[in-house]
Amino acid sequence: MINLEKWIATAEEIIQGKTTDVYFNRTKKCLSGDNLDKTKVWAEVTTGGIPRNGRNLVFLGLRDVLTLFSEAQLPVNIYSIKEGTILPNTDINGVKIPFLVIEGKYGDFAIYETPLLGLLCFQSGVGTSALRLRIAAEDKSLLSFGIRRMPPAIAPIIDRACYIAGFDGVSCVLSAEKLEIDATGTMPHTFIMIKGGIEETLISFDKHIDPKVSRIALVDTFNDERVEVLQALSAIGDKLAGIRLDTPSSRKGSFRDIIQEIKWELKLRDREDVKIFLSGGLTEESILELRDIADGFGIGTYVSNSPTIDYALDIVEIESKAIAKRGKFAGRKQIGYCEHCQTFLCDDFYKEEILCQSCGIKMTNMLEKVMDKGKIMTKLPTTKEIREYVLKQKEKLEEI
Ligand SMILES: [Zn+2]
Repeated sequence: MINLEKWIATAEEIIQGKTTDVYFNRTKKCLSGDNLDKTKVWAEVTTGGIPRNGRNLVFLGLRDVLTLFSEAQLPVNIYSIKEGTILPNTDINGVKIPFLVIEGKYGDFAIYETPLLGLLCFQSGVGTSALRLRIAAEDKSLLSFGIRRMPPAIAPIIDRACYIAGFDGVSCVLSAEKLEIDATGTMPHTFIMIKGGIEETLISFDKHIDPKVSRIALVDTFNDERVEVLQALSAIGDKLAGIRLDTPSSRKGSFRDIIQEIKWELKLRDREDVKIFLSGGLTEESILELRDIADGFGIGTYVSNSPTIDYALDIVEIESKAIAKRGKFAGRKQIGYCEHCQTFLCDDFYKEEILCQSCGIKMTNMLEKVMDKGKIMTKLPTTKEIREYVLKQKEKLEEI
């Protein structure tokens, strides 16, 4: 029988290690046969670069990794930076920063490399794009509208990453429920097509929908946007809180000119309070271009189909001996962060204190032990707490 769950891995299957790559199963079998599966290693999660020419990434997914390792009862230690930390992929000397480290017997966790990376790469990718958009949009409203481009089972994961990175709202009902916020949205073109026009649609919306919900008209279905804005005003007058432009690219010409004409018409009618929301194929560049004349943006594919952060897990120490494959940096490392010049520096894990190369002051150690022999050692922060942490770091950043 075919059902919706058939092609979705269940939590149980993931915990059993069934979403691994088969080569890990074979490696584990061989090492076990040769009595090498208990080899003690130190393995680091690093990445060689950040997509879209970014300088910093947002580290997300730690909560899920710890939950997986704990549920699977893997007797390993994990050291990690805090979930939501914004940082570059290398330190000031070009050494790849270890975001998360596993200490243990290789055979105990080998097959979990695949799901571990899957949990970190996707969420960090969406969070990183979302933060770039947050910075680009400045204080304008930013909404996640892109879940329709991805399998529905992961809609809440996408929206959670967007919300953590500072989005103001999400359109998905289930995501909003989980985030404990109100879902946000306007109206689809289908509604206007069935009703026959924007006036009839708004009258219906106003009649049936809770007055607490803002009346925002989609004004590009049949006619010129400026014409439909005037129709929307004549339909519900003062109740019109905003308009949304989802103008198709074939009609766009200059989007900026269309918006300016609408703003002029609203001004002539003393309705400069009507907010202007944009959606439809928006990117970081289009937000930068239009943020001075729009009040909010609904972002779709650009964020839900964000490039992932390509983390890798690599052994850097075997039985207390530093070792690394080509392209990686051998040995146990701690990461120091200088509050003063906001730089990161990798140094010997056991060094009592790491000093900033420029300021000479003591740096803050970023890697903390978060799992001891399979037991989570720390109280995991809530989604809202991670969001506050991201937004606090963002204050110091102009771009990422
Ligand atoms: Zn410094």
